[in-house]
Amino acid sequence: MINHESNDTLDKPLLINLNIMENTATKPADPQAPKFPEQVTGMYILAESLKRLGLMDVYGLVGIPVTEAAYAMQKIGINYYGFRFEQQAGMAAATHGYLTKQPGVLLTVSSLGFMNGLTATTNATVNCYPMIQISGASDPQMVDMDMGTYEQLDQLNTARPFVKAAFRCSHAKDIPQAVARAYRAAVSGRPGGVYIDMTTPALGEIMNAADAEKLFYEPVDVASPVAPTQSAVDRAVEILTSAKRPAILLGKGAAYAQVDDKIKELIETYKIPYLAMSMAKGLMPDNGELSALSCRSTIMEKADVVMVIGARINWMLSFGKGKWNPDMKFIQLDVEPKEIDRNVPIAAPVVGDMGESLDMILAAMKGKTMAADPQWLASLQAESKVKNAKFATRLADAANVMPMTHWTALSVVKPVLESNPDVILINEGANTLDDTRDSVDMFLPRHRVDCASWSIMGMGMGSAIGAAVATGKKVVAVEGDSAFGFSGMDFATICRYKLPVTVVIFNNGGIYNGIGVNPSGGDAPAPTTLDINAKYNLIGEAFGANNYRVDNSADLKKALEEAIASGKPCLIDVQLADNSGSESGHIGYLNPAPLIEYTV
Ligand code: ADP
Ligand code: MG
Repeated sequence: MINHESNDTLDKPLLINLNIMENTATKPADPQAPKFPEQVTGMYILAESLKRLGLMDVYGLVGIPVTEAAYAMQKIGINYYGFRFEQQAGMAAATHGYLTKQPGVLLTVSSLGFMNGLTATTNATVNCYPMIQISGASDPQMVDMDMGTYEQLDQLNTARPFVKAAFRCSHAKDIPQAVARAYRAAVSGRPGGVYIDMTTPALGEIMNAADAEKLFYEPVDVASPVAPTQSAVDRAVEILTSAKRPAILLGKGAAYAQVDDKIKELIETYKIPYLAMSMAKGLMPDNGELSALSCRSTIMEKADVVMVIGARINWMLSFGKGKWNPDMKFIQLDVEPKEIDRNVPIAAPVVGDMGESLDMILAAMKGKTMAADPQWLASLQAESKVKNAKFATRLADAANVMPMTHWTALSVVKPVLESNPDVILINEGANTLDDTRDSVDMFLPRHRVDCASWSIMGMGMGSAIGAAVATGKKVVAVEGDSAFGFSGMDFATICRYKLPVTVVIFNNGGIYNGIGVNPSGGDAPAPTTLDINAKYNLIGEAFGANNYRVDNSADLKKALEEAIASGKPCLIDVQLADNSGSESGHIGYLNPAPLIEYTV
């Protein structure tokens, strides 16, 4: 009896679904159904709200209760990109936000879909990328009473600690305002992720189209930039111009702000050596005359003033301690006041939006001369020359090693990518990340997206898609085999939307490498071991991409050049030696001291 009843209820939605599959023209009219165009539902209002704010690209994975919302979006001209995994759709939205300063939009279903997407929204918030996650949600009245409804989860409160702002739409009339407020919250101040709980009752609610029309409005000054005080600017300028050994450190906040000309003017007019955090590479050319990219340690130890532009003095910069010259003065430009003094006292905080801050700094610098010691720049240039030559020798020596190492592969990838500077480089892995970042010079702003502040794995395919969609440019993703595994299924999405993305997989057969030994002596693979003999290229074949499997530099060069030129989805499986790569790459020191002996 119980079984019979529960089967009954299970059958119902199925029948409804089948009805939908039939030709809608023959579907018997449901007297409850909304009558378009006189009437609309929350689904339509959501689509219109996005469109009217210019949010014309949406990344998602549909199902109950948001499927029709995606159709409604597509119907009115929004580009909808359907993924295999919500997390990757979220990574795409985040990268879209970073590259355009417009929030990327992620659409997810309730419960697990929401949770999968929230991982990416959280990562976006951590990295200051603007995005909006819109998730279908169960009726909050049922959730609040813990009735055990379909996919019941208190999503709003789950999301709150991970986002800049969170809103819930319980009624269709709330949707335009929620979307506009989410946009403002995502892009203003320090950018980040915003969540909208889009409840099933709101999505299904019927309104008269004329009443709905009155709800839409254009938010005024949606990304209102704030300026620093003049005294903060004067203090910073005084310290910078008096420095004997100044340097500028560029972070991805500087790249995000799209103030490229102002940064160039500051650096070039006043001849200040610069170095870039990984995603700020290319904001100024990596090989420029004033680039001190190879002199990071020297700058930390010897500079007397460092102007930090849109970077956090976090673990990646040793928290501003240790190696850093203890007498050094930091000037820090950041939109977020809480960032100031986070780990070390900041001598001159300049709190404001990058554009405003740099305008005021440049104005205050006019007519002033730098007190810098000319020997400082000369010595950095000499050091760069020596180090760069050494690095070039290292790559040249590796060029024909068989089986290939990371350096063998990079001896090819470096010149090919550098001769295609407008290609956006997506990069993740352990050794694949470290070695590619160190090898490949960037020449244009916002052309490198990697696993960023948390140094996470699993952003590759999503970010590649977001970058290709947001910019219309060609994209190359250089992925470790382990890194690729986190998002590999969304290579199918690259193919389905015919995006100009080439995925290069450095296969050394494992996390860090493929030589892990099971310490029990048993047959099971070691924890770091993956699949050294995998034919990743067949994933390309499965989805109709041009695909290559290479084990030497000549074939890799040919494949990569051909793939980039094609402008089509391509996958290159690069067979490396299983012992290429070390545990945790450059950041092995972050591991706790080992208790047992193990080989990796
Ligand atoms: P990186 O990883 O390159 O060091 P971070 O993500 O750590 O960069 O730091 C970026 C910083 O830039 C953040 O502190 C953020 O508040 C700041 N930021 C982002 N956008 C702007 C902007 N438009 N104006 C000023 N500061 C910004
Ligand atoms: Mg690997």
